[in-house]
Amino acid sequence: MNSADIKRSARDSGADLVGIAPVERLGYLPETADPRTFAPGTRSVIVVGHRIMRGTLRGIEEGTSFFNTYGCFGLNWMQDQFLARTVYELCCAIEREGFEASPLLGKDIAGNSFVPDINAYAHAAGLGSVGKGGFFLTPEYGHRQRFGVIFTTLELEGDEVIECDFCKDCNACMEACPLEAYKDGKLDLEYCKICRNGAFAVADSCEKVDRCAASCGRACMIALEDKVGNRFAARFRKRSIWQRGLSGSSVTAGNQFTGGVCPKKFESK
Ligand code: SF4
Ligand code: SF4
Repeated sequence: MNSADIKRSARDSGADLVGIAPVERLGYLPETADPRTFAPGTRSVIVVGHRIMRGTLRGIEEGTSFFNTYGCFGLNWMQDQFLARTVYELCCAIEREGFEASPLLGKDIAGNSFVPDINAYAHAAGLGSVGKGGFFLTPEYGHRQRFGVIFTTLELEGDEVIECDFCKDCNACMEACPLEAYKDGKLDLEYCKICRNGAFAVADSCEKVDRCAASCGRACMIALEDKVGNRFAARFRKRSIWQRGLSGSSVTAGNQFTGGVCPKKFESK
């Protein structure tokens, strides 16, 4: 089984993205995230990605539904069912060939000493890089994907590492944050944990907060509409935006959210 076989098999199992890194590329990571700490004998790290469908962000964009679509098809089921299934099937295919394959998702479970660094693995596997806003960006989908990982004893040819330069002359994610969580370009995750603009606190996730559908994440998606490979016939944003402040009251009342205190930043809007 070579790299081309792995990619074919992953795509047959539903993957939208597949990248491969020789494990040596990750030698700079702390022991707690080095694949060889988790699985001695690992030779290659395979990163598999599923796109997060743009349509799953629609309910949050319009302020009409948070959990029913995105919470299921963009977040929980996406990771724990669709992505997990793809990773599982690829692991089975590798183990049928007589090589060990350990599947991982981007989870940080209390009590575990090993905490995967999914973004580092995806970068080493040539899938993209982390942008200014803290999102992992790929040329195909921008910030809109989730990754699963396989550590395997199978030796594979790695993909070329790439850096996405989408963030040049762009601050859209930072400007879209109503809580001003970015300070001097650094994100204060404490704000995100209590953010009510489409962010989901996920205690057992390595990221701790899922920001893909939050005000910042949707701004990133819109900023990259004409730059990523996965383009659409129509623009995503249809109406004026809604945003909520720290208290949960409206900052900008785009759709059904009205009333509340208007922080200075938005008074003139
Ligand atoms: S999740 Fe909320 S608080 Fe955090 S950066 Fe995004 S919009 Fe701001
Ligand atoms: S919105 Fe712009 S600056 Fe922020 S992560 Fe996306 S591309 Fe980079």
